[in-house]
Amino acid sequence: MFELNEEQRLIQKSVHEFAKKELAPKASYWDVHEEFPWDLVKKMAEIGLTGLRLPALYGGMEADLVTTGIALEEVARFDHNCAIILCGCNITGKLLLHGLETIKNNYLPEIVKGRCILAFAAMESEAGSDIRAIKTVAKHVKDTYVVTGEKSMITFAEVAQGFVVLAKTDKKRREGISCIFVEANRPGIDIQRLQGFGWRATKWGNIALNDVKVPAENLIGEKNNALSMLKPTVQGQRALTGLIALGTARQALGEAVEYAKIRKVFGKPLGKFEGIQFKLVEDFTQLEAAKLTCYQALHLIEKKAGEASQWAAMANLIGGEVAYRVVNDAMDVFGGLGYSRELPIERCLRDIKAVQIASATLKMEIGQGILGKEFLPYT
Ligand SMILES: Cc1cc2nc3c(=O)[nH]c(=O)nc-3n(C[C@H](O)[C@H](O)[C@H](O)COP(=O)(O)OP(=O)(O)OC[C@H]3O[C@@H](n4cnc5c(N)ncnc54)[C@H](O)[C@@H]3O)c2cc1C
Repeated sequence: MFELNEEQRLIQKSVHEFAKKELAPKASYWDVHEEFPWDLVKKMAEIGLTGLRLPALYGGMEADLVTTGIALEEVARFDHNCAIILCGCNITGKLLLHGLETIKNNYLPEIVKGRCILAFAAMESEAGSDIRAIKTVAKHVKDTYVVTGEKSMITFAEVAQGFVVLAKTDKKRREGISCIFVEANRPGIDIQRLQGFGWRATKWGNIALNDVKVPAENLIGEKNNALSMLKPTVQGQRALTGLIALGTARQALGEAVEYAKIRKVFGKPLGKFEGIQFKLVEDFTQLEAAKLTCYQALHLIEKKAGEASQWAAMANLIGGEVAYRVVNDAMDVFGGLGYSRELPIERCLRDIKAVQIASATLKMEIGQGILGKEFLPYT
């Protein structure tokens, strides 16, 4: 049976108290003003959250994925955007571990201290779910890579000090893709801000790379092998974002339950009507089931189990779908008040929609897991 150990319980409790006290009061401010919450990132760094997954050598906590999920779920209850930022710190930080010492020494301690954020730039206007269709190229010229292309819809584009860019290094093969680290201050980079429905504090944008020259040492991992290197990282990101969505939904549901106890209609509290009770009960049940799927996925990814890819996709799919439904129902329970900006419900709904849209075609991995690779209609 799945059970948190003593240390995980302590982490859950302390992160819960921290997030409630430090993050909740300003969560709406960052959303309305579309600002990146640097002061909160520094506060989260002080208690180790920005370096949860990173090695102690760089100041990190070396936490496993389940423990990381517990912390991110608690942060997401009070500030969804902060949880997405933490997910980003830990995911791009992990990717840098495949790079050379100079890059690791320059960036990882800064991420851990909450002074640096990096972006992962894969998507292009004509390559989203089909990531092998990217057109950005990195040409190996003497001791440099010259990176040319455009990246679309990149989270943290405007605030990142560097980008982990996916680029073609062998144009003849669909898999001929490498990961190149591009410092944000290199000449030839142009950032265009995008405004989104949710994730408004994450400084989303498009990145133009106009013959940007970086040292050849900025190659992360093996040349032409980025897609297999990225697999465990992408799996972790999928399961964690599913859990982040559910953490946000858990808070909204809790508030809806409390409201149902005090809001009177037709002379009785809302919660006395079965129409409302059954909705809340179903949501609670589905939310807990979805959370267990996410934790199981995190456990399998940590173990490098064969079915990890399928479970990571299932966790993201069920996390986004259940969370959206739960928050939508919470909005209904609050009626007009839920729709208004007086309450965080509408912000939660917008943020969870981003989790659903930002994930590529999850059903491909699930289909491959249950039917077998030979049933994939494309590669
Ligand atoms: C808030 C947000 C943040 C993001 N942050 C980043 C980031 O940091 N870095 C990054 O690289 N990208 C990022 N993205 C981009 C994201 O990865 C893409 O939006 C995602 O991969 C989907 O690609 P697309 O938008 O091109 O949709 P498309 O691939 O064009 O798909 C359009 C629709 O068709 C569906 N679809 C696709 N293929 C199939 C199929 N075979 N069968 C049936 N349906 C299919 C999709 O599910 C989708 O609903 C972000 C997106 C959002 C919304």
